[in-house]
Amino acid sequence: MQKSKSLCLAPWTHTYLSPQTERRMCCASRESAQNFAQYIDTSAGTGRYIPITLEQHWNGEHMRSVRQRMMAGETLPECEVCNDQLLNTDVYRTYFEHLFRHKLPEVMTSTAPDGSTTMQPVSWDYRFSNLCNFKCRTCGDMLSSAWESEQRQHHMIDWTNPKNAWMQPEIRQEIAAFQDSQIEKEFSDAVEQHRVEEVYWVGGEPLMYEQHWRYMVRIVELNDGGRVYARYNTNLSRVDYGGRNLFRNILAHVRDWQLCASLDGVGATGEYIRTGLDYDVWLANFRQGLQYSSHPRQMRIDFTLTLPGMTQVMAIQQLAQELGVQLLAKVVFSFSPDIVMSPLVLPKHLLHPWLDELIDASSGAMRDVLVHLKSRPTFDEQWPDTYAQGLAKGRARVLQLESIRKSSTSMADILSARPAVLEWWNQHA
Ligand code: SF4
Repeated sequence: MQKSKSLCLAPWTHTYLSPQTERRMCCASRESAQNFAQYIDTSAGTGRYIPITLEQHWNGEHMRSVRQRMMAGETLPECEVCNDQLLNTDVYRTYFEHLFRHKLPEVMTSTAPDGSTTMQPVSWDYRFSNLCNFKCRTCGDMLSSAWESEQRQHHMIDWTNPKNAWMQPEIRQEIAAFQDSQIEKEFSDAVEQHRVEEVYWVGGEPLMYEQHWRYMVRIVELNDGGRVYARYNTNLSRVDYGGRNLFRNILAHVRDWQLCASLDGVGATGEYIRTGLDYDVWLANFRQGLQYSSHPRQMRIDFTLTLPGMTQVMAIQQLAQELGVQLLAKVVFSFSPDIVMSPLVLPKHLLHPWLDELIDASSGAMRDVLVHLKSRPTFDEQWPDTYAQGLAKGRARVLQLESIRKSSTSMADILSARPAVLEWWNQHA
């Protein structure tokens, strides 16, 4: 059975929940916020907290409309990240196609003309909270409790912005109560009723979630490991919890798994970009995973290209080669000109020669990302009227964080590897 190019299997198989309990088709879809806007949302939420259960969401008006439009062969604006390869060239839609293409006949027969389906989600991306021990400079408070604490401690929260209302103590409590009762029940029911075929552990930091360990142990106890594909995006700072080891006690008992260990640079530069990273610990944990892996797609380095990370492109590829693993590569998402962690903040006359050098010396996924990046407009082209203001704001924020975190390495130190870029950075002081 052939499917149209725009039809994605995610709306029939998968469900995503943010740490603030926002629901989306998947983590890459661009939809309207329900309560509090997330970083790639297309419109702000109400700023009030009105939680939605999975049952209300799954065949609610929005999901029915998505399915109807996909079945009519429409290209959905919500799926722009996949349609236009905004994050990477190996798009998320293809992942669902590989995993669930055998369900296509069921998709066709289970879907009513109004877009409702009798299928149930079997693929789960539930982010139980924003609990995380890292403060990566490309991240923020919605995805990291360490970021949240820092924002609170240094009075950096803009309370006039409705998107931050989720951090108000009373709303924070309501979210926690909904997570403890409804969300736990939804996932626990899926585990107990053997409805987990694929699970994506992201965060926050999933290996910090007590829920990760509890539910994965239960899946193994129920003898369901043999039908489960487990996927991780982790900072790999810990692989043991409560006397259990991730590789030995959990992943050795599931059908297959993939662990994408985030690393945006090696050594001190990597530790600068991802505050909290101890590079040596990361490497030791990664090597441990390699001892348990049975094929090269299981342990992967997940590299997000940033402005300081441009200096790391060769070192990361070399590390992947040394470890004998595949490299996943993407570019940090940029939705406004103050995202100075994006390489696209550089004007073309600085960015393109640098990219050309790196493209010549790169291969595979990294090369694809660099080539694609070269075809994209730089910030000064995309936002000519607000570029200067955005750059000043983003740069000031970088310096503020360096001061708060007492960073031993700075953006300027890292960019000194590329003198013309350092000069540009310093010019905007
Ligand atoms: S096409 Fe991409 S963005 Fe849309 S639902 Fe599928 S995976 Fe998500």
